[in-house]
Amino acid sequence: MTLPSLFVSHGAPTLILENGPTCAFLRRLGQELPRPDAVLAVSAHWETPRPALGAVPSPETIHDFYGFPDALYRMRYPAQGSPGLADRAAALLEASGIAAEIDKQRGLDHGAWVPLLLTYPDADVPTLQLSIQPQLGPAHHVAVGRALAPLREANVLVLASGGAVHNLRALRWNRSGSPESWAQDFDDWLMQKIEGGALHDLVAYRTQAPGGVQSHPRDEHLLPLYVALGAGGDNAIGKRIHYGFEHGSLGMAAFSFS
Ligand code: ZN
Repeated sequence: MTLPSLFVSHGAPTLILENGPTCAFLRRLGQELPRPDAVLAVSAHWETPRPALGAVPSPETIHDFYGFPDALYRMRYPAQGSPGLADRAAALLEASGIAAEIDKQRGLDHGAWVPLLLTYPDADVPTLQLSIQPQLGPAHHVAVGRALAPLREANVLVLASGGAVHNLRALRWNRSGSPESWAQDFDDWLMQKIEGGALHDLVAYRTQAPGGVQSHPRDEHLLPLYVALGAGGDNAIGKRIHYGFEHGSLGMAAFSFS
């Protein structure tokens, strides 16, 4: 069975300490998916001018957040890297006319290791990271995903990690219960457009979606979604496989494409 490509929302770094429904979902995901030979993690927290692939034999765990509990800084995700897969992914991008770079230093930031520590807690699946290019917008990221779709045939899991709704200024740390209405509106729209295969609307979300700009003041946490969508292939069917909110408006939805 060919692996789907996935988009997951990683929430706040404290997700992994809180043991809520998204933790349970990410743990279940690792048990339910066919076991991949490698993970290509697309993180919202690595921005470069051109797509870059981390090609490190033993990637370090990057603690790229500030002011959180000590326990988070002690966490490590000691998966092996896969420089060979980085070369193959870069070659696929180049073959599609997308200039790519190999980065021999980059480890795994929390956009990658927080979900992966839940999904593959033994860190026994080789993992590498792919960056995003916020200045190039959604359509570019769909093209990046399309170029990388053949990796799914090679049993590579494309795991894109960002946030379905992500406006840090709007977070209410102690808020529980129903989310802000603009966040809910955008989350509903996103699910409908993904499950309806409405690629043009999705790419134009900033003008098409209710609450689009409020849900994403900057693009960076939504862009990984477009890589997953593209990696699903030309006639991919998108399905929402998890959803919910934390802190009043932080959307935790996840989608699979196959
Ligand atoms: Zn993030």
